Amino acid sequence: MHLPDSSSWQAAAACAGLSPSVVFARRSQQAAPALRACAVCLVQRECEAAVAPAESWFDGVCAGRLWRNGRPVAAKRRATTRRPGGTAVASAGTSARATEITGGGRG
Ligand code: SF4
Repeated sequence: MHLPDSSSWQAAAACAGLSPSVVFARRSQQAAPALRACAVCLVQRECEAAVAPAESWFDGVCAGRLWRNGRPVAAKRRATTRRPGGTAVASAGTSARATEITGGGRG
């Protein structure tokens, strides 16, 4: 059986320096650093192809999403605060990219 050489894309993974407890987190709050890494990661496609989260019933972060039992976990809505003058601004929370990708509300 031939396994593809995954070392090249793994070396470019933006999450490479993060703790496994972050990358394989089951909750959005713990996964937030990995989701932020995904937002700037250049190897998202390779990551998703290698992990195949839906087929592998993956738990953790892959390709900009948090997965649990192979299903994307919906990102929590970001809290907003009002600036003086009425402009709403997002506060710290799950990345907008994760919200965009998951579509919010599913899972
Ligand atoms: S897409 Fe996310 S989980 Fe996959 S290698 Fe990049 S940073 Fe890591």
